[in-house]
Amino acid sequence: MISPKMLELGKKSSVIREIFEYGLKRKAEIGAENVFDFSLGNPSVPAPPKVTEIMKKLIDETPAEVLHGYTSGPGDMKVRTKIAEYIKSKYNVAATAGLVYMTCGAAASLTITLNAIVEDGDEVIVFAPFFPEYRVFVEQAGAKLVTVSCKKEDLQIDFDALEKAITPNTKAVIINSPNNPSGVIVPEKDVVKLTEVLNKKQEEYGKVIFLISDEPYRELVFTGEKVAYIPEYYKNSVVCYSYSKALSLPGERIGYIFVSPSMKDAGDVFAAVCGAGRALGYVCAPSLMQYVISQCLDDTADVSIYEKNRNILYNGLTDIGYTVIKPDGAFYMFVKSLEEDANAFYERAKKFDLLIVPSDSFGVEGFVRISYCVDTALIERSLPAFKALYEDYKNE
Ligand code: PLP
Repeated sequence: MISPKMLELGKKSSVIREIFEYGLKRKAEIGAENVFDFSLGNPSVPAPPKVTEIMKKLIDETPAEVLHGYTSGPGDMKVRTKIAEYIKSKYNVAATAGLVYMTCGAAASLTITLNAIVEDGDEVIVFAPFFPEYRVFVEQAGAKLVTVSCKKEDLQIDFDALEKAITPNTKAVIINSPNNPSGVIVPEKDVVKLTEVLNKKQEEYGKVIFLISDEPYRELVFTGEKVAYIPEYYKNSVVCYSYSKALSLPGERIGYIFVSPSMKDAGDVFAAVCGAGRALGYVCAPSLMQYVISQCLDDTADVSIYEKNRNILYNGLTDIGYTVIKPDGAFYMFVKSLEEDANAFYERAKKFDLLIVPSDSFGVEGFVRISYCVDTALIERSLPAFKALYEDYKNE
């Protein structure tokens, strides 16, 4: 027989994917320009030209056995050294290549990290709203996902709820700032508070609680606000980084794990990361992409386009009358549903060819997510549809 758990996972696609597939069908019916598809978080801004130039040069000048060959399991040592040097120069953290593990993007970074640290019976806390795949990753690693709802008014951490949720079984907390799906950034003062809570609980229970920072959106910030670099604030932290979003390379599957050097037994935690990478079949992230990103560590796509999109959409929607949580980063916006049931709201929006994602799949009720990493013109064209949807509610 086959694994019933995997069968279920494979058969049941995510709500986001279902909406996207519906969008493809609808576009074939009425033309792509008439469907306002805000479902996926696929970057619309191209990678900087430098990426293609470096790729071409590498293809032309690197011996095939290197270009297409295996690197060592955790990644090419020169690449890992460059990343460690970059982290050291950018943040106040004594990174070393021996604590950097190259991965196929943030998804792989998360699954490897979780498999490295959790044991059966452990609990992993996530703040809702959260990236839906967290549930799959955490449960597959053998732990229980525990959700802590953020404050409804600003989607920031509710510390009372967090304290109540931490138990002797808590092994890790995942933080994602800027956040998918809300675009919210956790302010530095809240990061400090979070580390105080975790330190207190570690002491109380006499155990390590890991703080995993999932940060594919680190560079997508529109306010100049500092996105706290978690290892600067908390010893037992692991960074799960990805080049999918800020460098617009989601299909190239490249990122890394960085284990904080100030963690107790950091070497063993890193060895467990290597073990999990091996057990999951993830050794040796794509070689060409490792070499490419090592030359683009401080580069991003033109992310100002997302800021422009955010402003047009935020101003347009609030002018119409929608309640919007103003996003400070990433390329997602959380909008209050015009009725209690966000699924019903999503269905009604579909009638106006607005494809938005109901918030239930992100672990909260009453909102929809708009993914605005789309053509700016599409956002402008969508505003009359949002207005018509709003009026449809007001006139009932
Ligand atoms: N974490 C979050 C919060 C995300 O939004 C995503 C992708 O959308 C991922 C992880 C996975 O990223 P990657 O494509 O680098 O695997």
